[in-house]
Amino acid sequence: MSVTSLPTPSLDQARAQLREVFGFADFRGSQEDVLQRVLDGHSALAVMPTGAGKSLTYQLPATLMPGTCVVISPLIALMHDQLRSAKANGIRAATLTSADADWRETMDAYRAGDLDLLYVAPERASQPQFCDFLTSARISLFAVDEAHCVSEWGHDFRPDYRQLRPLMDRFTDVPRLALTATADKRTRADILNQLGIPAEGLVLAGFDRPNIRYSIRHRDNPVKQIAALMAEQPGPGIVYAPTRRKVEDLAEKLGAATGRTVLPYHAGLPAEERAANQVAFVASEDMVIVATIAFGMGIDKPDVRFVAHAGIPKSIEAYYQETGRAGRDGDPAQAIMLWGAGDFVQARQRLSEMPDNRRDDERQRVDMLAALVEAPACRRAILLRHFGEDPAAQCGNCDNCLSPPKVTDATETARKVLSAVYRTGQSFGFGHIQKVLTGSSDDRIVQRGHDRLSVFGIVMGEEARLLQPLSRALQARGALVATEHGGLALGGEAPAILKGEQTVEIVIPPKQSRRGRGRNTTPNPVGDPLFEALRDLRRDLAKEAQVPPYVIFNDATLRAMTAERPASLAEFGEISGVGAKKLKAFGEIFLQVIRQY
Ligand code: ADP
Ligand code: ZN
Repeated sequence: MSVTSLPTPSLDQARAQLREVFGFADFRGSQEDVLQRVLDGHSALAVMPTGAGKSLTYQLPATLMPGTCVVISPLIALMHDQLRSAKANGIRAATLTSADADWRETMDAYRAGDLDLLYVAPERASQPQFCDFLTSARISLFAVDEAHCVSEWGHDFRPDYRQLRPLMDRFTDVPRLALTATADKRTRADILNQLGIPAEGLVLAGFDRPNIRYSIRHRDNPVKQIAALMAEQPGPGIVYAPTRRKVEDLAEKLGAATGRTVLPYHAGLPAEERAANQVAFVASEDMVIVATIAFGMGIDKPDVRFVAHAGIPKSIEAYYQETGRAGRDGDPAQAIMLWGAGDFVQARQRLSEMPDNRRDDERQRVDMLAALVEAPACRRAILLRHFGEDPAAQCGNCDNCLSPPKVTDATETARKVLSAVYRTGQSFGFGHIQKVLTGSSDDRIVQRGHDRLSVFGIVMGEEARLLQPLSRALQARGALVATEHGGLALGGEAPAILKGEQTVEIVIPPKQSRRGRGRNTTPNPVGDPLFEALRDLRRDLAKEAQVPPYVIFNDATLRAMTAERPASLAEFGEISGVGAKKLKAFGEIFLQVIRQY
């Protein structure tokens, strides 16, 4: 199809529209680069981290360019979420999915040119009838969300995405915008190729999520540790646990320990209960959900304040993606991983059951994770380097930057541990090894003659404090592995350490747990009467409109209202996050509340 070309909207026009429709002062990060290309009619692939504001890069052009922006999105739940937010800002949007009853109206609206945005699933988009239908009106832009689904190298390959190129090729004048949060180099090249986007259209934003504070510590009492986090973070949170049983157990104990609503989510729950828990979580401002990793995909809740891992994730990629569900609204959020040596032992045991061709890759994944949890250095720098970036050495917003741990060279002690394991026959647990090394005799030790070994009693005084963390570190890096009967044996990394080819530096555990001081970000003023009153109002409005509270206004906007106390509609309109539609819909009613305080 060929259309007469109109003058393209300028970036200044887009900025004015950003204020008018979304109520935001300016673009963030790479949004401007993406918009520039799209508004000029060029195709682009935007790789931007979660929370960077990808949806705005097509929603805004959709309101400026003539015609309808067709958005291909893989999950109905995501589409409906986007739809609600778009409509709340006064954008004319609709979805065409199997879950919609109003598809006839939607099709009529499209034909009449009355839609800014039309969301469809890839299954529908790939049908020939749909293509014919699209020719009945003007398209402004194709937006392909979760674009990594088009690539077999991506982690969610969807064959239907491969049909999008033939569809889009029918509309040669319409620019294409592909969006994803996760795509490595190979996947990026594949997406460009599969969707017919020129290489210069790639806009690559950094992976950094500066508002997320990363902390990783040893798991000694997960209920107590996570309850402490919940006391610090009254907002919604996700706790990932490795098994269904642990999900149920943690949910129950955390609920009892904190008095907050804590619900479970895993594939073994009845479908209705699972769905109901998810809906409750999305709508809630303070609920915690304990879940297996099945939870999260397709959940677009921007105000998640923390993500806790009660065991190690599968890989650094998985960790980044799971923790990335925290703080999408840009407000301060926490990611805490609690790890145990047993997590690594199990992960390494699984390696031996794997086919040869996958084992090396998987071993590398586990090694990278071990390096991350053991590191005394900035966690964010490790993550970002893993994704090929060149970050600053210190981020100032992770556990190791905020309270730098003491590190010691424990290579000598490590050698003692490994020889004790070797000399006792590689079949005893750590408790026994510890006794042998510190020279504390018991019946079992005497019976086996372990008190006569050269390693008996060679660890003394302060050095004994290193044994526990050292055992964890050696297991994490695979120098010690578990035997079938729960004992310890030497693993692949052990010889290098024994021969002095590899050093072992460990973090000395703090004498008592330090509290996470030194906030550098603004939390919600929980307890401030005005803030609470605004939250109540938001909750009532959300209920009435049957949308989650953040669709009305997000936390940052409520905070700004609390701090700035606008006295007039004009002042209210200046608050970040208040666009024209929301000013009209909610301005008066919020001002009434603000005036009372
Ligand atoms: P993504 O899809 O990249 O994960 P979203 O599109 O959901 O991110 O946006 C994340 C949050 O950032 C939303 O709450 C959105 O309203 C907000 N946001 C987007 N762009 C801006 C901006 N320019 N200024 C302020 N907030 C923004
Ligand atoms: Zn750091």
